[in-house]
Amino acid sequence: MIIIMQAQASEREIDKIKDSIISLGCEVNEYQNQNHRILGLLGDTSKINIDLLKGNRSIDKIVYVNEPYKKVNRLFHPEDTIIKVLDKTIGKDHIAIIAGPCSVESEEQILEIGKEVKDAGASFLRGGAFKPRTSPYSFQGIGDSALDYLKKARDIIGLPIVSELMSVHMLDRFVEDVDIIQVGTRNMQNYDLLKELGRIDKPILLKRGLSATIEEFLMAAEYIMLGGNENIILCERGIRTFENYTRNTLDLSAIPIIKKKSHLPIIVDPSHATGLWWLVEPLAKAAIAVGADGIMIEVHNNPSKALCDGNQSIKTERFASLMKSLKEIARIENRIL
Ligand code: PEP
Ligand code: MN
Repeated sequence: MIIIMQAQASEREIDKIKDSIISLGCEVNEYQNQNHRILGLLGDTSKINIDLLKGNRSIDKIVYVNEPYKKVNRLFHPEDTIIKVLDKTIGKDHIAIIAGPCSVESEEQILEIGKEVKDAGASFLRGGAFKPRTSPYSFQGIGDSALDYLKKARDIIGLPIVSELMSVHMLDRFVEDVDIIQVGTRNMQNYDLLKELGRIDKPILLKRGLSATIEEFLMAAEYIMLGGNENIILCERGIRTFENYTRNTLDLSAIPIIKKKSHLPIIVDPSHATGLWWLVEPLAKAAIAVGADGIMIEVHNNPSKALCDGNQSIKTERFASLMKSLKEIARIENRIL
């Protein structure tokens, strides 16, 4: 339930309402902008005397929130959330482009790709250090040293860095070293991990689970937000369907749906969605056209030699030409890229 206060409601009156709700065991999530003061109610609201509230002259409206997600719900927070990471902004007018290899392979590799994607206009550098591979026999990432190389790349190139955290035991290292902590598709429902991420204030890039519904995806974000971390960027990366031509099926309709239902920014990963490098460009363009707040693309300087996901990685020169198209689409959509 949310309570929308009258613009002229006094602080005293608002405090009285809040206190009466809290005394019944509910939590109050406050939202304030120039025009609105909204009290979002969390917990069991069944004991609240709605008729009493309805008669209160300081209250403009009471709205029932049917969805199970509350803090990520747009009703709780009508304006788009804007996330700031170092000198970069994601959300509302600002589109973020995260680019880089699936995995950091060496210092030279991440520095070379990093410089090229920066020159082409990327706003973040990605690179996996610990890789969640289907086969235990596949390359698992180079681990800790990848984080050292990413940090060096950030210092030299000046792009904030994004990398995937697989396990709670590495959390402190990631908080220290990484600018955006990625939660991969396989961990979207690792609720212990999500709760821990709720206790920090680093931005989290939460990828949609392989077979997660939009509601399950938003509930995963709710876990993080309930802990107090409101810096969440959602990422649609394709879902599993009966279609097997592509690695996954990119659910582009999830973008406008999530933007309607939630205030959190949502980006698209066309690389893992398709698994095929030649589908990355058209779907990246489509993502910006449907209103995504950014894209995350795997870029490699030598895809045929990549240790992971070479088939879906585009070359640095293709990334540069794609950026030009994306800028045009962003301009038509009145967004900043
Ligand atoms: C990745 O971004 O490298 C990755 C493993 O993605 P996902 O979790 O979406 O499969
Ligand atoms: Mn990958």
